[in-house]
Amino acid sequence: MDWLIGFFTPWIIFAGIFVLHLLLPARRVTGYVRDEDSGELLSYRLNGPLVLVACVGIWAVLGFSGALPWDWLWQHRWPGLAGAFTLGVLASVAVVLSSPSRGGALLAELYLGRRENPQMFNRRADAKMVLYLVGAILLQLNLLSFAAHHFLSYPDDPSPGVVLYVALFSWFVCDYLVFERVHLYTYDLFAERLGFKLIWGCLAWYPYFYAVGLWSAADLPNPDAPAWLLVLAALVFFAGWVLARGANMQKFTFKQDPQRAFLGRMAPKVFSDGERQVLHSGFWGVSRHVNYLGEILMACGLALSLGWPLLIGPWLYPLYYVALLLPRERDDDRRCAEKYGAPWEQYREKVPWRIVPKVY
Ligand code: NDP
Repeated sequence: MDWLIGFFTPWIIFAGIFVLHLLLPARRVTGYVRDEDSGELLSYRLNGPLVLVACVGIWAVLGFSGALPWDWLWQHRWPGLAGAFTLGVLASVAVVLSSPSRGGALLAELYLGRRENPQMFNRRADAKMVLYLVGAILLQLNLLSFAAHHFLSYPDDPSPGVVLYVALFSWFVCDYLVFERVHLYTYDLFAERLGFKLIWGCLAWYPYFYAVGLWSAADLPNPDAPAWLLVLAALVFFAGWVLARGANMQKFTFKQDPQRAFLGRMAPKVFSDGERQVLHSGFWGVSRHVNYLGEILMACGLALSLGWPLLIGPWLYPLYYVALLLPRERDDDRRCAEKYGAPWEQYREKVPWRIVPKVY
């Protein structure tokens, strides 16, 4: 019975987050991608930070009142993972099979999806943004609960690395939700469809695998890591954040107004064929995807922050980013070469580095 409750926990949490998303006030913004049928720019209701605060608040109330142990999600992490995994598979199959085929092989369509950007409840909720929202918030709850397990296990000598890891990862989650609008301009929104990769990825992989560092270290005692290691971890993380957030915001500013200087200082320099423009200044002049380097550095900072630099578990997270972002960069580069033509060729010549300047 206990196992069954654990299994359905992510289902219940996802449903709760979805209801909060629908009910809480939200700002309405116009996005970047267009409706598949009407060709109009899609509009979105965004309220990620508010839903996050509400969910963490509920978690805290349950913990303080004693209604649920602080580390309940840790205790039920295996059935929880199984439940999220199963829901991810079922939802992917249901979404794909209920959408018209694009004429591809069934397995490929199951994996990559058919529909691009479906919206629900009279456009009150966007399927992709809801998936990212529920994944991000369950990740945050898992992190808090896993850290709580560590504190309950070692009340007299908890690891500062666990505190740092959760603080940095909370920054990562809050950053995503605060800048939810910028996410509307990314690859996931304009190039991906709703299939197993995205649905299962958001429901199972994102909230459970991303916490792999604590999954492996929450049960361990304080490693007594030297302070310099923790400082280094935070520096690597924030250096990565500056690159990723800076590049994303510069591109977002440019897409909204191609004349506007980013942060009032970085005037955009572009290659253009008179119709389409490719930005090659600021972050986008360092490498063609310096934002990916930023994500990988943030992941390395997180792996280091736990204070167990030789433990393999936390390093699976940056390794996953390398495996995800290297092929994604190739794919995006191909897509941009097709879309932009000559300006992209000029950009490749001026900025030959794909991700890491002077290296790759
Ligand atoms: P980008 O933000 O780099 O978006 C690529 C698109 O931006 C291109 O297809 C093109 O689209 C446009 N573009 C690229 N270069 C230029 C340029 N020089 N000038 C003008 N437009 C350009 O990548 P993603 O969407 O993949 O990633 C967005 C963010 O999300 C990144 O920071 C990434 O690291 C992060 N991310 C995070 C993940 C996570 O799990 N935490 C997973 C994957 C990504 P267009 O056709 O619109 O011009």
